Amino acid sequence: MKLVSFDGGRLGSVDGDEVVDLGQRAAAAGHPGATLEDLVRGELLDDARRWSLAGLPRRPIGAVRLEAPLCRPGKIVAAPVNYRAHQDEMEWPTSVEDLGVFLKAPSSIIGPGDEISLPYLDVRTDQEGELAVVIGRRARDVTLQAALDHVAGYTCLLDITTRSTEDRSMRKSFDTFTPLGPCLVTADEVADPDRLRLRCWVNGRLRQDASTAQMIFSVPLLIAYASSVLTLQAGDILATGTPAGVGPLSGGDEICVEIERVGRLEVGVSAERATAYAERPRVAG
Ligand code: MN
Repeated sequence: MKLVSFDGGRLGSVDGDEVVDLGQRAAAAGHPGATLEDLVRGELLDDARRWSLAGLPRRPIGAVRLEAPLCRPGKIVAAPVNYRAHQDEMEWPTSVEDLGVFLKAPSSIIGPGDEISLPYLDVRTDQEGELAVVIGRRARDVTLQAALDHVAGYTCLLDITTRSTEDRSMRKSFDTFTPLGPCLVTADEVADPDRLRLRCWVNGRLRQDASTAQMIFSVPLLIAYASSVLTLQAGDILATGTPAGVGPLSGGDEICVEIERVGRLEVGVSAERATAYAERPRVAG
């Protein structure tokens, strides 16, 4: 099932070229007004997968405004340096094995067709195309074998990153720095998340082309590892790291990330609010 949020938080399912409005079904199941995020947090996706689409209102997918499938997760847990080829291109001595995971602010999420707002005119900000894992069931100290049982589904994510000197979590948490979507593809449709082709284009030029098979920490290992540190709750998001091919963004750029079986996410880039790095607020003196 490919679930979407559209037209101001309406709950939908993609069926071919149409979006089916699931609002009536959710209400009949005792969840009137439920958003996709409500369903995930309530661990209700298995119920929703059994809902019949017969007789429900439908709209052509091009006639609705798709939104981020989740907009305020409890947390976004992200893997730094989870592909060797990306480690090599950045000439970093360390990987996820040494760095562990970090947190990205949930307030940085935007949806398909939205714009990334570049903070600085004179400091590089890069695109990082990544597979996102959406947690569907509370996970604490889970084993590798049980890890995927805690996944609700998958979606596309861009981990936008400014290459300045501040802490990683800040450089990746500016508002608009986590484009997400368009669909939440339920876990039953992705038999092996560690075998998906991931590609990312900027202005139609291919920058990233890799397989999630090349991740240093696989999806189950990332879940097991993260859950050994903190409790993963339904609705939390894991960003699994980016392959080689990151590069600088400029105002007017169009970014597209496509992941096999998961979807295709497109966003724009704006430099309208960018300032010189030296003009950022600082402590006096
Ligand atoms: Mn990243």
